[in-house]
Amino acid sequence: MARIAWRLSAARFFLALAISTSVGAVDFKSKCLAFDPESYIPNVTLNRLEFVTAGTNLAFPDNDASCNRASQAVDVDLCRIALSVTTSQRSGFHYELWLPETWNGRTLATGNGGVDGCIKYEDIAYGAANGFARYTFGTNNGHNGTGGAAFYKNEDVVIDFSWRALHTSVEVGKNLASLFYDEDIGKSYYIGCSLGGRQGIGNAEKFPEDFDGIVAGAPAVDFNSLYSWRASFFPITGDTKSEDFISPNTWKTTIHNEVLKQCDIIDGVEDGIIEDPILCHVDTQQLLCGFNNSTSTDCLNAAQVKKVQAIFSDYLWPNGTLLYPRVNPGGELLAADGLYSGKAYGPSVDWFKYVILGEPSWDPATYTLDDAALAVAKNPADIDTWPYALSAFQDHGGKIITYHGQQDQQISSLNSVRFWERLAKEADFDLEKMDTFYRFFRIPGMYHCGTGPGAWTVGQGGSAPAYAIPFDKEHNVLAAIVDWVEKGVAPDEIVGTKFVNDSVGAGIMYQHRHCRYPYRSTYSGAGDPLDIDSWHCVYFGGY
Ligand code: CA
Repeated sequence: MARIAWRLSAARFFLALAISTSVGAVDFKSKCLAFDPESYIPNVTLNRLEFVTAGTNLAFPDNDASCNRASQAVDVDLCRIALSVTTSQRSGFHYELWLPETWNGRTLATGNGGVDGCIKYEDIAYGAANGFARYTFGTNNGHNGTGGAAFYKNEDVVIDFSWRALHTSVEVGKNLASLFYDEDIGKSYYIGCSLGGRQGIGNAEKFPEDFDGIVAGAPAVDFNSLYSWRASFFPITGDTKSEDFISPNTWKTTIHNEVLKQCDIIDGVEDGIIEDPILCHVDTQQLLCGFNNSTSTDCLNAAQVKKVQAIFSDYLWPNGTLLYPRVNPGGELLAADGLYSGKAYGPSVDWFKYVILGEPSWDPATYTLDDAALAVAKNPADIDTWPYALSAFQDHGGKIITYHGQQDQQISSLNSVRFWERLAKEADFDLEKMDTFYRFFRIPGMYHCGTGPGAWTVGQGGSAPAYAIPFDKEHNVLAAIVDWVEKGVAPDEIVGTKFVNDSVGAGIMYQHRHCRYPYRSTYSGAGDPLDIDSWHCVYFGGY
């Protein structure tokens, strides 16, 4: 980037001259429309430059339909810059840089999900709202749509997906925003979940100077093994027509009810929520027809019980060591239509087909541990994201807030426990050391990245509930990371909010105190369970 830096410094000098002669006379809209990114940075192509007024529902007619993001409401006046950035002779990414007219000196980058190339416009808009960010941006991570076919025989697209699109977008964004506003860039933040959580952790590992604060939800760290774990379910379940197939309805009723029967009350409150999945080990034998002389027909045959047992177990290498931790009990309500549905899990299929094996005709029913071993050995574009420590980021003063739904149906929350323990081991299991830069909040009753029966709204991304809670460190993870970075006030707890039927208009159903690991949300034994003060965070020391 040396060449870019030189050109930028020269360009900035001339732009500063231009601004100094006309400042005050140039309104924001004119300034926006006169901005010319192509003249400052090589290898970028301007696709769209427009002034967007608050209240606009911005349409994206060219956006890949599979991304399911045809439009986005915009809350503030801003300058929208849509670019294509070339990263190699055979790769590049689409880039949205939104520069609000009113800002408070911060910047925000957003992440992606799955194996997708979908810009999360809702998160960009969330960052731009309320003057939170001076500029906020996101990329398609190097390819379009939710599939992974673009990875096939093109390692540069995989490199973009792994780390380069995000990191390059930070460099380009900081440079362009600095030119546009003619001021130094303030504190930089990142927010993402799932793959986006991994992008945040991975960026802290590889480019510790990029961000001061990172919110990394349900991070897809240990990426290769996560994708193997996800691929492992289809050979267990069989397809929907296979013998002893367990129907989604059986998962949601018979099995889910048995899980709750065994584990819901462990936390002292029968509310359909398993507060801490660490404590829940389902005895699958109790699902077997005739168990304990039961005459109930609401049960499974022996072959089906064996499948459930395999699904609920830690995923192991042949030598017995852990490949990836077991699923979240309670997650079957949604996993019934996902990982357990009798259909191979799309993102895993694409990852193995197009990246690990390079065989577009690969049959996911043939997946074995050999494929998992190959994924680890190949570790394409160093995507694994499984560091022992994040020392350089920590030395830079960087802070990470991570959170994970305890009912996550796509990434086991126990892997976030495992990752915390991994970092803690390197920090001599000194809680104070961990607390200085990395805080992990477990969110009971939350599915993958959001929704669920728990008090799941914590400001983790652009959704209606996120706008309806106070933007403060008590309720909102984004506000909390800002206070931690800028005021040195770290969050000990985060209050989650559950709206009735997840509808903001219907009002708040209840709020719940989410605890950082290794504290556990613990019922006092008395009082209304929906009363926030009936629960407290109790230190238990870890796994
Ligand atoms: Ca419970």
